[in-house]
Amino acid sequence: MDYKKYITVVEDYPKEGIRFKDITTLMQNGPAYKEAINEMKEFAKDKNIDVIVGPEARGFVVGCPIAYAMEIGFAPVRKKGKLPRETVDMDYGLEYGEDQLSMHLDSIKPGQRVLITDDLLATGGTIHATVKLVEELGGIVAGLAFLIELDYLNGRGKLAELGEYDIFSLVTFQ
Ligand code: AMP
Repeated sequence: MDYKKYITVVEDYPKEGIRFKDITTLMQNGPAYKEAINEMKEFAKDKNIDVIVGPEARGFVVGCPIAYAMEIGFAPVRKKGKLPRETVDMDYGLEYGEDQLSMHLDSIKPGQRVLITDDLLATGGTIHATVKLVEELGGIVAGLAFLIELDYLNGRGKLAELGEYDIFSLVTFQ
């Protein structure tokens, strides 16, 4: 399927020079959304995945339906302070300063195989911190799946700092 025709590119949002990839127009189209989720599920199906992990908020938009389709659990990654129980926290770099992402301590058991999902791989900063959280909890990152990859920002290079991972993206923008 040509997913690009369902993704709206918004120029200069949220600020000048950024070409924002709006996936809400893909989500509005039931068959396209379903097909995208199915393709991501296909990527994961032979990897013996135990749990899906995705960062808020658009990581939930892809991760939860994949988890449902695979009949496995989903563990959220959230900004620090949003999860109600004991967490493991990780710093990550933002354009201006730093922030922290968190996961519940009991969300992954040591040795569990994890698929990490998000809508979009840009610089890779968010996913870099997510991989570190999963590994800190003893999870094995068995794959990473994205709807969109912005090739020119080299998120794959950022992830290569941590190790060699099996990365899938449905649509690439050069
Ligand atoms: P990054 O940490 O740079 O890989 O990007 C983190 C998140 O920011 C991604 O998961 C997207 O949700 C969002 N994002 C970054 N760049 C864009 C973009 N050009 N269009 C839409 N979302 C973006």
